[in-house]
Amino acid sequence: MENLQVNQLTKHHPVKRLALAGALAASLLVLPGIGNSPASAQKNERELNYGELIKKVQNDEVKRVELDETEQIAKVYLKNQKPDTPPLQVRLLNQNGELIARLRDKRVDFGESSSTGSRAAVGLLINLMWILPLAALMLLFLRRSSNASNQAMNFGKTRARFQMEAKTGIKFEDVAGIEEAKEELAEVVTFLKQPEKFTAVGARIPKGVLLVGAPGTGKTLLAKAIAGEAAVPFFSISGSEFVEMFVGVGASRVRDLFKKAKENAPCIIFIDEIDAVGRQRGAGIGGGNDEREQTLNQLLTEMDGFEGNNGIIIIAATNRPDVLDAALLRPGRFDRQVIVDAPDRKGRLEVLQVHARNKKLDPTVSLEVIARRTPGFTGADLANLLNEAAILTARRRKEAITTLEIDDAIDRLTIGLTLNPLLDSKKKRLIAYHEIGHALLTTLLEHSDPLNKVTIIPRSGGVGGFSQQIPNEQVIDSGLNTRARMRDGITMTLGGKAAEVEVFGEAEVTNGALSDLKMVTNIARKMVTVYGMTDVGLLALESQNQDVFLGRDWVTRNEYSEEVAVKIDRKVREIANHSYQEARRIIRENRDLVDRLVDLLVEQETIEGEQFRQIVSEYTKLPEKELAKSGV
Ligand code: ADP
Ligand code: ZN
Repeated sequence: MENLQVNQLTKHHPVKRLALAGALAASLLVLPGIGNSPASAQKNERELNYGELIKKVQNDEVKRVELDETEQIAKVYLKNQKPDTPPLQVRLLNQNGELIARLRDKRVDFGESSSTGSRAAVGLLINLMWILPLAALMLLFLRRSSNASNQAMNFGKTRARFQMEAKTGIKFEDVAGIEEAKEELAEVVTFLKQPEKFTAVGARIPKGVLLVGAPGTGKTLLAKAIAGEAAVPFFSISGSEFVEMFVGVGASRVRDLFKKAKENAPCIIFIDEIDAVGRQRGAGIGGGNDEREQTLNQLLTEMDGFEGNNGIIIIAATNRPDVLDAALLRPGRFDRQVIVDAPDRKGRLEVLQVHARNKKLDPTVSLEVIARRTPGFTGADLANLLNEAAILTARRRKEAITTLEIDDAIDRLTIGLTLNPLLDSKKKRLIAYHEIGHALLTTLLEHSDPLNKVTIIPRSGGVGGFSQQIPNEQVIDSGLNTRARMRDGITMTLGGKAAEVEVFGEAEVTNGALSDLKMVTNIARKMVTVYGMTDVGLLALESQNQDVFLGRDWVTRNEYSEEVAVKIDRKVREIANHSYQEARRIIRENRDLVDRLVDLLVEQETIEGEQFRQIVSEYTKLPEKELAKSGV
């Protein structure tokens, strides 16, 4: 199903940051002033100056030092610090020699945390900054001369950007959770291994396969697995690398790439982000892009130019098949399309199993539970999750990854890094009321997902705290949502502001509810205009495609009149208002409970769902919810 619906639902859920970045901020109390200042204040606290560091080294207080050369920072771990407090930071001003000598002297453990690779890269960049303008000048000069195109071609050739891997070493068993795509592509392996099988009966072997799916779903991995299974070389290039600033370079890269591939056939050519070159021609706003068109034309020519049976199969990846030039999709080119979806729960479990193979997991960790907790995560997100958990485990000096590290890694990936808690203050209480507002409503509303936890430990990105629900995997995986759920979602989202207003009055309301309000407007509008859930009409009034600069649909007109627009606005307001009153009523009627929860939250900083429900049930009856199914 389409993403928007899923997005709406997951606003308050731990779902991957990439696609839902805007969405997620919703239940997080974002207080620019509040969120940032303590963070920077804390930073100062965690900073040492160089002299202090030397003193601490002399006094044998330092346990370990990590030098980050690129950033010119030393991270200092003291002997008496708790295992999971972050290190102190010291700015280095090129006195490292002295520092290192002293560290050696005192036998303090030290290492470099940034790779010299990145340093080399910086160096290279600086060099390139000189070389590029020079090269540009040279090229301009050359292009004026009679054999310009020839020279440009050589230029492209010498800087060929495609990679070749003789053996990818990746097998189908390394790709998990996308069974259908794998099955469809198993045949391609046979094409490469035993083309006779097909040519003997006169079958034409396909030249191009288009993999369609969101970033991180494993498209590159899949293409590599095909090459690995068939034991053929793997050539890869990204569409964006074709598009250079010099006309003709892209086209010459395409020529080079195919030339090399032909020399190494049978093989796979993988073109990532093909939409960067393969976008519909002549549809861009403000005229076409010469360079891109030339590159695309060259690509088409090459694809037509080789016989279907010479053992080269081109696999391209995109997440925007709708913007591709129709010529690319014609028979004999990328005429096979394979959808690579984000995995469902079973798929997520399989991906986790693949990536857990080389990790040390505590026996109490259940991959099944992690799979349930991570709807919306792609294969890459899951791989990243286990890796983050492993890093946390190492940092905490534990033997194996436990559920605690997994949970922390999930929050880290979906919400942000934790910062130190605020000191008790009005600010802290205000954030607590806001978050308790969300948390209480999600617990009391019948069609709202159960609370996982509520916390006021701030996180990077100006997040003052958040209230997190246990996602309803059925809804997320199917993308189907009901009107009752949307309504309760809106009410819950307004709970933060409602609590602030009930307790502190209108005048004190912060801008922390801004993202909440945006989200509410967004859902309410969709209920009216897209899902036809209100009396404004049964029509889907707005098309879903709102990307303006993507070429094709840039003139999406609103399909309704001024008069209807006014009606829509009124309806959206009505929905939001109704929910807001409802939220305020519930907070008001449970004021004692709210105050008690806030006191507890200020003290504990985090309340888990279980404890929260326990307390709420002492005051009022809890609605029946499908807790069991959510499995956390
Ligand atoms: P895409 O090309 O779709 O953006 P990648 O293939 O580059 O995604 O995925 C990045 C990494 O994420 C892979 O190298 C792999 O470690 C992990 N990954 C992604 N999808 C899967 C999957 N289906 N099974 C196992 N690992 C996966
Ligand atoms: Zn909020």
